[in-house]
Amino acid sequence: MTVRIGVIGVGMIGQDHIRRLTQVLAGSDVVAVADTDAARARDVAGGLAGATAYATGEELVAAPEVDAVLVCSWGPSHEQYVTAAIRAGKWVFCEKPLATTEQACLNILDAEVSHGKRLVQVGFMRRYDPAYRALKASIDGGEIGAPLIFHSGHRNASVPSHYTADMAIVDTAVHDIDVARWLLDDEVVETMVVTPRKSGRGGPLQDPLLIMLRMRGGAIVNIETSVNIAYGYDIRGEVVGETGTVELAESATVLVKRQGVVNARVPEDWRERFIRAYDIELQDWVDNCRRGTCGGPSSWDGYAATVVTDAGLAAAKSGGWAPATLRDKPMIYG
Ligand code: NAP
Repeated sequence: MTVRIGVIGVGMIGQDHIRRLTQVLAGSDVVAVADTDAARARDVAGGLAGATAYATGEELVAAPEVDAVLVCSWGPSHEQYVTAAIRAGKWVFCEKPLATTEQACLNILDAEVSHGKRLVQVGFMRRYDPAYRALKASIDGGEIGAPLIFHSGHRNASVPSHYTADMAIVDTAVHDIDVARWLLDDEVVETMVVTPRKSGRGGPLQDPLLIMLRMRGGAIVNIETSVNIAYGYDIRGEVVGETGTVELAESATVLVKRQGVVNARVPEDWRERFIRAYDIELQDWVDNCRRGTCGGPSSWDGYAATVVTDAGLAAAKSGGWAPATLRDKPMIYG
């Protein structure tokens, strides 16, 4: 069976996912698109054999030829499309964030719980990155004993001028927060934000940030966001356990040694660093749709991430620890 996919939001990542689905991955067809920019939607549909451009995301969700929905629109619009897809009983892959407010995430959880089984996967692609998978396998295999500390570094060469301090938590660190919960198999109970001296390269932006998470089991996570670091896109991760440590290796595939110097490429941006992860992530979603199942990061994971980023914003304001309080986990999320 070929999964017939409708894509809502055909901007940067929407078009990249369409390229992936139509040129790289197997088992799906993109049959419909929708975007608030109708001309862009028509343009993208025009490049796909037999695809329809719908005027609204809701019409796309209701379209009989659409088996599964890929939501790549602006974050505040995610709730309306994800809940529409759940009500229609269709599989839905929602780019992060699941939704931008805790209440919107809870509305999605309620809709999915009422449906009775998982339909939603959230786009936390790091969980599909081969290096992060190896890191998790090492922790789960007991190689370093019980994890005590996770140091996570998220460095961008630069960010656009509209990037704000809140985005460092909500858009950037959210990936580190999700991966911390997944690697440590634990929930965050509180968070604090510490601000070093400002980088001169970030204008008025407070950059870098150190975001601390205290996990329910007592481990501490320390996330560095440095979003104007000039030298490239660099993702660091090291877990300190009771008997050892495990860390992400350099992502370069080759090292060049010449004239007494070792050189390795630093990725330019997240597209380059995580290209494999995005491919594996979406192929997994398509394969699950074909099998009639749903896996990967769930609405619960999206909800938990939003609760923690909200706590991070509160902590940045207060300067102290801010609690991250989750509702009881519904059975469908395991
Ligand atoms: P983008 O380039 O601005 O594309 C978003 C598209 O959605 C635009 O065409 C926009 O139209 C359209 N849109 C906005 N509101 C809509 C609505 N209510 N209904 C239908 N279409 C709507 O943004 P992007 O960078 O692709 O990001 C899209 C989503 O993906 C965001 O949630 C972002 O956080 C997420 N993302 C995730 C990753 C990751 O690493 N997993 C990476 C990048 C992005 P207009 O231009 O007219 O507003």
